[in-house]
Amino acid sequence: MSGAQGIAVPLAPTPASRPSSAGVWRRFMRSGMAVAGAGLLLVVVALVLAAPFLPLSDPDRTDILHRMARPLTTGHLLGTDELGRDLLSRVIWGTRLSLLVGVVAATLSSLIGSALGVVAAYYGRAVDTLVMRGVDMLMAFPYLLLALAIVAALGPSLGHAMLAIIIVNVPFFARAVRGATVSLRQSDFIAAARLMGQSNLRIIATELLPNVLPVVVVTASTSVGWMILETAGLSFLGLGAQPPVADLGGMLGSARNLINVAPHVAAVPGLAILLIAIGVNLVGDGVRDALDPRLRAGGLARISAVTEVAPDRPMPAQPPSDALLSVRSLRTEFRSGGQVWRAVNDVSFEVRAGEAVGLVGESGSGKTVTALSIAGLVASPPGRIAGGSIRFKGQELIGAPLAALQDIRGNRVAYMFQDPLTTLNPLLTIGQQISETVRRHQGLGPRAAMAQAVTLLEQVGITDPAQRARSFPHELSGGQRQRVGAAIALANSPDLIVADEPTTALDVTTQARVLALMNEQRHRLGAALVFISHDMGVIAELCDRVHVMYAGSIVESGRVADVLSRPAHPYTIRLLACVPRPGQARREVEPIPGLPPATNALPPGCAFAPRCDLAIAACSAGAIPMVAVGQEHAARCVRTRDALQEAAA
Ligand code: SF4
Repeated sequence: MSGAQGIAVPLAPTPASRPSSAGVWRRFMRSGMAVAGAGLLLVVVALVLAAPFLPLSDPDRTDILHRMARPLTTGHLLGTDELGRDLLSRVIWGTRLSLLVGVVAATLSSLIGSALGVVAAYYGRAVDTLVMRGVDMLMAFPYLLLALAIVAALGPSLGHAMLAIIIVNVPFFARAVRGATVSLRQSDFIAAARLMGQSNLRIIATELLPNVLPVVVVTASTSVGWMILETAGLSFLGLGAQPPVADLGGMLGSARNLINVAPHVAAVPGLAILLIAIGVNLVGDGVRDALDPRLRAGGLARISAVTEVAPDRPMPAQPPSDALLSVRSLRTEFRSGGQVWRAVNDVSFEVRAGEAVGLVGESGSGKTVTALSIAGLVASPPGRIAGGSIRFKGQELIGAPLAALQDIRGNRVAYMFQDPLTTLNPLLTIGQQISETVRRHQGLGPRAAMAQAVTLLEQVGITDPAQRARSFPHELSGGQRQRVGAAIALANSPDLIVADEPTTALDVTTQARVLALMNEQRHRLGAALVFISHDMGVIAELCDRVHVMYAGSIVESGRVADVLSRPAHPYTIRLLACVPRPGQARREVEPIPGLPPATNALPPGCAFAPRCDLAIAACSAGAIPMVAVGQEHAARCVRTRDALQEAAA
């Protein structure tokens, strides 16, 4: 697992984890603007529901003697209109009607549009073509003109205006829901439902609809306000509610000639429309944010080109070393939904020139985030570096200007990622993508850069490199794509290669070939390596030193031979027990019981204590320092420390 996968930050609702109603409610209530909008709407709804019981005058009763009375006139709090009708009564009854029309129109158009979108996406082919071309035809007309044409054809009335609003809004729902359904249709859980023999209707009702429901609710909640405005617009033009029925648009329309003589007659319904639109939109935004946690986590926000750095970040006490890479007291965290996920806690290590250093641990142990922090590649938001120092060739990288980091990234520090299919651009050829990095850092022209790309492909063992340079990523096998990843990483003869589980997705034979190639090319260039893996066997093959990580902290460090032969931390011992040994078919592989803790709720003391069969009370008493257990070999364990003290005594 790598990248964001390794970070336990809540992301979008997935088939496996749909948002619970309690969670949605909590997230909604955390948004001050949404709560304010809900409060505003509650007041409006309470008023219109209570309309029959309030001491209001008849909204249609005319009183010519008191035409256009000013607000705060006795008996008319908001004044009267051109026929002497009480504006307070008419605006409350008019709001009641406009709200009802907006909600009914949003509900019906979302139901019809969603049904069309799901059916079109699920059945595909002719059904999809038929439905979506119909939708396209409706969308080809300006929607307000279409609504006007429908009402003009049917005759002016509030019912026809509502029908027109429903018809013109159906295509928007159909398009949105079809888009969401198409991506789900190919999902494994849908295929599994089909294989189990479930009917199409059941798959749509129980598998697809619950998963597209957030899209429907979000689209509907943000459309209600718009539909109220559209209905008001039709009434304003005399095509909606007919006199003497009060609705906000109609009131506004009949008051347009009185703007100069009695502005309050137009201002009262106008203000009511404004408040309703603000309330509905704030609630709609709140519902959208609550149903799509990615928005709160910054998942859809524009990712910064460099990881954000806390302005008051604590600096390490230790002086910088002259190592190629010096990481000191690094803290990287993710802020999401009011919680802080401490992915990397006080991590310190060094990499010397030409040396290979391994970071090993289970998924979520913080090794990928540590590696991404080196060149400021942790996504912000929601990530940020909260403390520490990272020096590369003596230059501080945390807080360095973007231009300085861009000169280093892909040039002096190169990355190899786990899945090249997601990191390579599917629309550019392999040659274009390799030559892009060569041109950026070596200033070569297009022809020279492409020639170098072909040479690099040859060096990483791609057969017929000139032909392959013209291929797209999807035309290569997994092993070939990872070789392309190696070629891009090696393109500018970097001083440091950071390889994040680059062979995890490959079969063992291809994995061995790619690892051997990477090692050979690294030695040829004299580059140092930070190699991330959960596989102790691979680390043993490649690395000189290893740091074992657990719950965002390094728990054991040392030369690979020492850590493998004399592991000092119970977690390392359990990790090694999980490694299958060739020739020991009968040896039982012992999985570690339990799961790593969530990094937003780390237990005090040793984070491994809940899974450790050697745990004692002192393990949870407080922070545990690294203690030296040999030359360049240290572990963070109370039992190891006590054993050393006993031995010394
Ligand atoms: S400190 Fe305690 S709980 Fe943690 S690894 Fe050591 S013995 Fe186990």
